[in-house]
Amino acid sequence: MSMDRFTSRRGVLCGGLALGVGAFLPGAVFAQSGHRGDMRLGDFPVAGNGEVLDQIRHVATAERVIAMTFDDGPHQILTPQVLDILAARQIKASFFVIGNRVAQMPALVARIAQEGHEIGNHSWSHPHMGQLPDHAVLNQIDRTVDAVMTATGHRPVLMRPPYGDFTMPQSRMVRLARNMPTIMWSVDPQDWRRPGGFAIADHIIRHAAPGSIVLAHDTVNDTIRNLPHALDTLLAQGYRFVTISELIGFPASTYRAAARAT
Ligand SMILES: [Zn+2]
Repeated sequence: MSMDRFTSRRGVLCGGLALGVGAFLPGAVFAQSGHRGDMRLGDFPVAGNGEVLDQIRHVATAERVIAMTFDDGPHQILTPQVLDILAARQIKASFFVIGNRVAQMPALVARIAQEGHEIGNHSWSHPHMGQLPDHAVLNQIDRTVDAVMTATGHRPVLMRPPYGDFTMPQSRMVRLARNMPTIMWSVDPQDWRRPGGFAIADHIIRHAAPGSIVLAHDTVNDTIRNLPHALDTLLAQGYRFVTISELIGFPASTYRAAARAT
């Protein structure tokens, strides 16, 4: 299926406006799609009422598309294993990387990008940012942008705050200052708790739905062990895996200029 067809058929986006963490809005509360296929370069996702979405948790769509996301890498040993599992299934995912790790492992980050995955910004040092002043938040973001740029030649155009600890005013600030939406998630298997067995895969399979954004970590052994089962089951159910930019209708991230104040 072509990207154009997907874009034009998809419903409107659903974000975190005035919602608690993990809350869902049924797609029906928004106006029907129509403008979605008309998104231009640099546009931001908007709700049916035209309000810009500063935080995105999932996309309201009837299409069986899912975005897998991996946080906290790169990890010298585990990230290559995730890449191999994805490549074997021709799946593209999104990696929200920590800047200081990118600086340590630029070649691995370059491999992630070369294999067609999206690279997002997960701060420089993984702090709780909800209480940080704006200049410190932007410093976390900018240092990571520079590290990813150095490693891959491209700027990340999405950000995800560590722990999801970010206020709506902060997301709006980052959108206005850096042209970056805040990407949250709708499916969280809490893999960092290392629940054992196939609890991670079972959670993902049970909760995944069209338009889901799944949170996982390419730094957790259990996640890598569960990943083939989760992916194969969802593929067998007819799901297609897309990057976040693809899911939310951004043009290919490498072609979109992310604003950077001087
Ligand atoms: Zn994290």
